[in-house]
Parts: sequence; structure tokens; C-alpha cells
Amino acid sequence: MRRQRHPRGGDPPVTPRPGRLPAPPEPPGAPPLLRASKLVKVYRADGVTVEAIRGVDIELAIGEFVAIMGPSGSGKSTLLHVLGGLEPATSGEIWLRGQRADRLSTAAWAVLRRQHIGFVFQFFNLLSNMTVADNVELPALLAGATPRQARKRREELLAELGIADKAGAAPARLSGGEQQRVALARALANEPSVLLADEPTGNLDSSNTRDVLRLLRRAHAGGQAILMVTHDARVASLADRVINLFDGMVADDAKVVPIPRTVNGVGDVLEMRG
Ligand code: ADP
Repeated sequence: MRRQRHPRGGDPPVTPRPGRLPAPPEPPGAPPLLRASKLVKVYRADGVTVEAIRGVDIELAIGEFVAIMGPSGSGKSTLLHVLGGLEPATSGEIWLRGQRADRLSTAAWAVLRRQHIGFVFQFFNLLSNMTVADNVELPALLAGATPRQARKRREELLAELGIADKAGAAPARLSGGEQQRVALARALANEPSVLLADEPTGNLDSSNTRDVLRLLRRAHAGGQAILMVTHDARVASLADRVINLFDGMVADDAKVVPIPRTVNGVGDVLEMRG
């Protein structure tokens, strides 16, 4: 079955973020947190073949924040799903924390994912028969946190996202923006090594977007690696690196590099380096 899609426009140019903190340095000799090489994903249905990902090489370092941009249909969502093991790759390799992940059984992949990956999708996948609090606490409990730890983390996250008063509510009683924030809280609840996020601000108004960006910025400053699909230049400008996909391939992979403040006062300008 095809996944639902939002209509999307083209990408505005990236506005660099002043005052951005660099990602924490990787320990020498450490493997990248997430790496894929020659990744290919072909969908075949009803005699139609779609090459959604066509030979992507990508690396995400520990603590790095990478934004993925590109026109609608360029393969961004597919890339996140395949990297997170939610859909099998057609060919290529995926390595998570130095371990070859794409060859794992479905069950072993699920365990690895539960321990190390947080997902936020456009369609929030919240469990409708559980409260907001239970939705957020569940991943931490599954990853081995005590109930007290899971509750504390949930209280912090919901408070930070301005929805602490919704803890006892069923997800269906929340607005789309609130549900999206719950989904983000859930994804961060067990402090995963990497957050894979598909347009986490896609349905939010500007004040809710600010809350989400503040949380992402804080998570990143705390060493959280983030790989995030976005069409929003403000969101992309928080990243260390912006990868542009086009037609299932990496068209551009640019580091956002701060330029040191100059003596004549023209400081805090950032440049993109390919
Ligand atoms: P983006 O996220 O950049 O909009 P997608 O990854 O959703 O792009 O889609 C890339 C291509 O793969 C598109 O042509 C899309 O129609 C196709 N595609 C995505 N998911 C499926 C699927 N489950 N079955 C068949 N084709 C798909």
C-alpha cells in the first residue's frame, strides 16, 4: 500500500542560523553513528517500478544534525524509512553504530531500533487507546527505563512542549499540532542515539514550531543526532549539514560553516560549503 503524502512545495533557500553550536567532537576512531552506502530502494507494484532511492551514500556522525531537503517525490521519506529499517532496502548497506543493520532479521532490527532510533512521522502513529502520557512513556519503558524514570522524562518533555496539561487525554482529543508535539516527545523519550524526523513542524503554526525548534535545538546541544526531512528553511538552518535529494540521489551535501566575527563588525554570517 502506498503511504499517504502531503502536498508540498519547493524548498526555499537555507537561511543560516547565527550562533549555532558545533556538534560535539566524535571520539577518535569511532565509526559514524549511521552510515549507508550505495543505498537503493525500488518499489514494484502492479507492474509499475519506481526507483525511489538510487544509490545514496550518507553518513551521520555522533551528535550531528543533518537536514534533508529536496522536491516532493525526491525520495526523502523513503530514505528515512529505509535507514530506520521500517522498509527493507533493495540493495546497499546500512550501518548503525558500527553494526551492519540491513542484514539483521526483522526482530533483531526492531530491537536495535527500539534502543537507538526515535522516529517522528508526518502521520503521528500515536496509540489511540492509550493516554498521551502512556504514549510518551512507552518507548522509554520498552528500552528498559524504570516507570519513575519514564514518568520524569515524560513530564519534562510535555512541559517543554507546552502540553503538560494534556497528559491524561486521549490523542484523538488533541489538535493536529498537539498530536505532533506528543509524537516528538515520544520519539525523544528514551534519548535515542539518533532521531529520524519527517517534517516534524509540517502541521504546526508558528508558535508551536518555535516550541519544537527549541526542543530540537536543546536536544542537539545535548549531543542528540538528528536526521530530519524538512521543507522549512528555518528548521534546516538549525542543522550542521544540509543534504539535498533530487530524483532519489544526493544532489548536494553542504556543511553550514560559521564565519568568524570580523574586526569591522560583519560577524555571525554563515556560509554553506559543499
Ligand atoms: P519525498 O519524501 O521526497 O516526497 P518519497 O520518498 O515519498 O519522496 O517518494 C519517492 C518516490 O517513491 C515517489 O515517486 C513516490 O511516489 C514513490 N513511493 C514512495 N512510497 C512508495 C510506495 N510505498 N510504493 C510505491 N511507490 C512509492
